[in-house]
Amino acid sequence: MAILVVGSVALDEVETPFGGRKDALGGAAVYFGLAASYFTSVQLVGVVGEDFAQEHLDLLAARGMDLGGLVTAPGKTFRWGGRYGYDFNARDTLYTDLNVFADFDPTIPAAFRQTPYVFLANIDPTLQLRVLDQVASPEVVGLDTMNYWIERTPEKLKRVLERIQILLINDSEARELAGEPNLHKAALAILEAGPRLLVVKKGEHGALAFARDLLFAVPGLPMENVVDPTGAGDAFAGGFLGYLAASGDLSTEGLRRATIYGSVLGSFCCEAYSVDRLVDLSRGEIEERFETFRELTRFEASRTAGTQ
Ligand code: AMP
Repeated sequence: MAILVVGSVALDEVETPFGGRKDALGGAAVYFGLAASYFTSVQLVGVVGEDFAQEHLDLLAARGMDLGGLVTAPGKTFRWGGRYGYDFNARDTLYTDLNVFADFDPTIPAAFRQTPYVFLANIDPTLQLRVLDQVASPEVVGLDTMNYWIERTPEKLKRVLERIQILLINDSEARELAGEPNLHKAALAILEAGPRLLVVKKGEHGALAFARDLLFAVPGLPMENVVDPTGAGDAFAGGFLGYLAASGDLSTEGLRRATIYGSVLGSFCCEAYSVDRLVDLSRGEIEERFETFRELTRFEASRTAGTQ
């Protein structure tokens, strides 16, 4: 089944202690869409400015993405800059220039309105509600948000949460959303607010999936080669929902596998600047890393009878 993503398409600037990139292709919808494109067909709704290079559009189209909902508006593309220190789990936002994104009012093309899987990337909850008003009762709606919206538009966000099935956020967002420092208690409170499944991403420390009948933990993959973690959360969401859309398997086993595929795509994303690692993966590499996660967490009970 196809998946519709609505969110930012950006030109990013990233600085790390080891190097950086300017004018790099980024944006939540881009990272999500590229990751999901390894599993299913992706329809993208977003906005770019007149400065957005054709080569970026070609790259997205080459991954089979349907760009029928990507509008080019007069002005400049959304630009975001971030700086990492030695700890890649922490980053400073250097600037957020909304440019054409400031007036983004997503119009879902008629051809995308019946799409059964929808991902609302991190945008104003008012716009997320407008998207939901335009689509015909999708089977699964996934959602991302951030502290900015949790603090500024809690009522709107509450209304969005009532209309989605899967929430994918990071641990600090989960705590803030629930107003509860204990992550497990926070997760249970969030499940009361609407979503059937909550996936809490914890950067290099992995992810947790919570549902009424599911508690699943994935470790972070110990990686020697972390270059740029920008977009890893969106790539995680793309792998997660892409797998679900392709398999249609919403059983607890399917959700566990989706959490691993999310971790796989998130980990690949970190291995190069911008989207570089997400454009030429092979299905074999993805499956191999899936197996790496399996091996990482595999253990067997002792054959001897218990401890003394
Ligand atoms: P992540 O590392 O998962 O937080 O995603 C980073 C991506 O999100 C970058 O490519 C940015 O262009 C994009 N981004 C940063 N800030 C925002 C924002 N306020 N709204 C939408 N997208 C954003």
